[in-house]
Amino acid sequence: MIKNKKIFVFGMARSGYEVAKFLHKYNNEIIVTDAKEQDEDKVKELENLGIKVIITNRPEDLLDESFDYMVKNPGIIKTHPCVVKAHNLGLEVINEVEVAYLFLPKNINIIAITGSNGKTTTTTITYNILKEAGLPVHLAGNIGTPLSKLVEEIKENDYLVMEISDHQLVDMYKFHPSIAVLTNLSQVHLDFHGNSYDNYKNTKKKLFLNMNEEDVAFLNYNNSDVVELTKDLKTNKKYFSTNTKTDCYLKDNKIYFEDELIINTNDILVKGLHNYENIMCAIMVAKTLKINNEVIIKVLKEFNGVEHRLEFVRNLNNRLFYNDSKSTNNESTITALKSFDKPTILLLGGLDRNIPFDALTPYMTYVKEVICYGETKNKLKEYCDSINKKCIVLDNLLESTKKAYEISNEGDVILLSPACASWDQYKTFEERGEEFKKIVNELK
Ligand code: ADP
Repeated sequence: MIKNKKIFVFGMARSGYEVAKFLHKYNNEIIVTDAKEQDEDKVKELENLGIKVIITNRPEDLLDESFDYMVKNPGIIKTHPCVVKAHNLGLEVINEVEVAYLFLPKNINIIAITGSNGKTTTTTITYNILKEAGLPVHLAGNIGTPLSKLVEEIKENDYLVMEISDHQLVDMYKFHPSIAVLTNLSQVHLDFHGNSYDNYKNTKKKLFLNMNEEDVAFLNYNNSDVVELTKDLKTNKKYFSTNTKTDCYLKDNKIYFEDELIINTNDILVKGLHNYENIMCAIMVAKTLKINNEVIIKVLKEFNGVEHRLEFVRNLNNRLFYNDSKSTNNESTITALKSFDKPTILLLGGLDRNIPFDALTPYMTYVKEVICYGETKNKLKEYCDSINKKCIVLDNLLESTKKAYEISNEGDVILLSPACASWDQYKTFEERGEEFKKIVNELK
């Protein structure tokens, strides 16, 4: 617990605001700083509690040895002059999750999920299963609510499902999950870790370092970096794989846990090996908690994906519509294309960043026709012509979606995975995805 201390909350946003309010209840003296103007009502609320909120580009000028802790927002890089100064002054630098963790009752069942990709999807499915099973479960961390907002509602023996990012792990030391998942590792966010993949991997490893023989880690057997990084962990290790018989595995379109058939992938709405990996992680957690198969299967059959990430929208006359509006680059669209082995009509287009589309070519096998719109439409037409792919050029998503349905046949997939940012026609990718879903749901 942190009581009667002087605390420097560096970075306000949602988690800084919550942690400041929370720590205030324990007689701590608090200053919150941020470089950007913050929501006026929230600032007033903090100030009314006696918390100082200071908007400044030179937060380091406010910092001195009178402080005990810095609570750093996960987005702030550790080479920031203010963070460097905190370390030099000998302050403990931690983050909001670590603070809240210190206040939790001791016997909470923490399920922590990390990885380079698939965190949100895996966390969501896991939470849905625990909830469906009727367990007292809370969702917090990188998605959902900051833990410091929930901490007082959490009772002994409750379950806590958390998505934990590498940015958060940088400033976490005592956090101790009883179940931890590492979905995969790849070279992302390296700029945040001094451009070193080793630094990034070792940051991820921190999630497991307090775990012991009573705990269990679920790990991706197909990812050699995961296997290598975790080989000397003290905790129990169990593996999942899409091609090898392990603790949980995929074989002939069926998912098994300890050789027991759990579900056929034809009964799952979300597609792609990557999603089956996420599902295997959730199954491993659920089975470890002795949740029965009916509950697991019910949730998996109903789960239509995280919004805008290859989200299943509708089956209309045996055409399957998927919304992958979050795809704003070639890499994401490649992941989406790899997920289908049925004739696909692909909707592409958006903001022009002058990036060629050739990287998509090896994955276009099942795409029978492209419909493109937005700023990149003519470039996309040129690209499709160059690989002899049929392509229709239209002006917007409404026309494109209607056209896709008009030219589709039974059994087709109609996929919005634009490979471009949305900002030529929308404020956000969320707005684009919402519009797509509305159009699809109004089709007759
Ligand atoms: P995160 O929370 O780690 O960013 P998400 O679950 O939000 O991950 O998925 C983001 C994107 O990452 C998805 O749209 C998909 O393209 C890709 N993805 C999801 N799960 C995996 C996985 N297990 N392996 C590889 N890529 C994945």
